[in-house]
Amino acid sequence: MERVLNGISASPGIVLGPVHLLHWEVPDVTHRIISDEEVPAEQVRFRDALETAKRKLRAVAERAERHAGTEEAAIFEVQISILDDPDFIAKVDSYIRQNIGAEKAFDVVMLEWRQQFARSAAPLVRERVGDLVDVHIRVLSILLGLGDHDPVDVRPGARAILVTHDLTPSLTVQLDRNAIAGIATDSGTRTSHVAILARSLGLPAVVGLLDATSRLRGDEFIVLDGSSGMLIVNPSEAEIATFRHRADVEAQDEAELQKIADADAITTDAVRITIRANVDLPEESEHAAHSGAEGVGLMRTEFLVVGRTTMPDEEEQYKAYVKVVQAFGAQPVVIRTFDIGGDKLPVGGFPHEPNPFLGWRAIRMCLDEAELFKVQLRALLRAGLHGDVRIMLPLVVTVDEVRATRALLQECMRELEARNVPFRRDVPLGVMIETPAAAVGVDLFIGEAEFFSIGTNDLVQYTLAVDRGNANLAERFTPLHPAVLRLIHRITEVGTGHGLEVCVCGEMASEPLMAFVLLGLGVRQLSVNPRSVPVIKRIIRGVSESFAREAANAALNARTADEARKELEFRLRAAFGNVAFLRDGAA
Ligand code: PEP
Ligand code: MG
Repeated sequence: MERVLNGISASPGIVLGPVHLLHWEVPDVTHRIISDEEVPAEQVRFRDALETAKRKLRAVAERAERHAGTEEAAIFEVQISILDDPDFIAKVDSYIRQNIGAEKAFDVVMLEWRQQFARSAAPLVRERVGDLVDVHIRVLSILLGLGDHDPVDVRPGARAILVTHDLTPSLTVQLDRNAIAGIATDSGTRTSHVAILARSLGLPAVVGLLDATSRLRGDEFIVLDGSSGMLIVNPSEAEIATFRHRADVEAQDEAELQKIADADAITTDAVRITIRANVDLPEESEHAAHSGAEGVGLMRTEFLVVGRTTMPDEEEQYKAYVKVVQAFGAQPVVIRTFDIGGDKLPVGGFPHEPNPFLGWRAIRMCLDEAELFKVQLRALLRAGLHGDVRIMLPLVVTVDEVRATRALLQECMRELEARNVPFRRDVPLGVMIETPAAAVGVDLFIGEAEFFSIGTNDLVQYTLAVDRGNANLAERFTPLHPAVLRLIHRITEVGTGHGLEVCVCGEMASEPLMAFVLLGLGVRQLSVNPRSVPVIKRIIRGVSESFAREAANAALNARTADEARKELEFRLRAAFGNVAFLRDGAA
């Protein structure tokens, strides 16, 4: 086996530890005919498997409650109730009585149920499909004797590296950060849900490894280098020493960087840039507030939903938003309305769509499900009383979406007044510019939206027609493609020309070389991963705006992303020397 597995750098940091290999997929089952005499024993075997599964689920629920919360643990209560369902048990029994082995009988019934649930007209029933899949995997693994399939049953303090195909919501809520020190997945890219979450949790991660779960056996010791995106399997003593040394250097570099975390992000020719933080989980807000960021440029609210079986109610959302707002005092906190869909789905998800990224998601889903959306809008208006809250809409393509949201905001205000609940009336409403329609037609939003924020993860995906979550296309996901740079340039010119704040909140802003070009393109606000605040400040403080503008012009006139990168790189190296911190993942 190859000892070096290359993937995509998703969350920085170096960790060394044992592999915890997790195959969370429905195992293959062969058809086994049993004799009449074997039927009773097979029924008992099935019952025993159900009991074992329930025992494990109760333990998992307890763990999820400790690590994620009561709501998140509810997923597992639902799964236990499926295993207790008399119709379901009777159906499996009836197949066993027809001389079908227990595992096949169970497999067939689960497939039937999954199909029925997926076709249901009721969203609540469709949302159960994810639970059925989890139950399907768990019970089959027991019946087939596939060993302990508990996803994250890892000894606390093990500092293991979780290697799995994809990090699903139900796996995520079980993650014990005392036990898992790093994440490696076959699927995913820098901008997919798993990568964003790993960065939020501060866990080093490599994604897009394609086939790590089939190459590893599970008994290896590995080095995971989240900064360069690779795994080294069973490293030699010399390699271990090298990586420990590199981890020390990274830690020192980080300590050095912390010294400028609170400095102003100001260029050598006195152009001031505002650096804000991206916050994905309310629990992160304290840490983000001490990162040197001046407020939150993007709070992704869908992580309040992902991994849960029900939507959070108004009170729960209000508390979550207030937590972030209070952590940042008087500084602005831009909260994005639910961007559910694509790769960010609650448990069970929504109806299966052939093209989820072009599908019923984000503002489209929210406007169609107005009651669900209004719960969030009311919570946001109420949170507005505690600080400088701003509301931002994702995936906007038309001005109608902004107008429809304003109408709903008016309704929400009337409802809150009727309930005598205090709220803030003048919460600004902005839009994410992350579709080519919004970018090319950005002038149409002047007078409709109060600020712009460029979501480069999606803007790159839709402009280049490159699925941001497809590891096979990762090299083609190039924010430096001149077409993307030209769109960013235009959005910035139109927005700032009309006195609007224009921020970049996609992952691009967190990468030094990209931040340099964004400065040159006229962007004056960046919202970045909290860990990247100091490194981005170092870039801004080390160059002049005119130097960055000249570099950006050269990149705009390049023909390819590669050429653009070279134009930027050689100038940055002239300014900073050949230093490691200029290295970043994407082209
Ligand atoms: C983006 O698309 O750039 C963005 C910031 O939003 P998300 O990554 O959550 O889609
Ligand atoms: Mg987006």
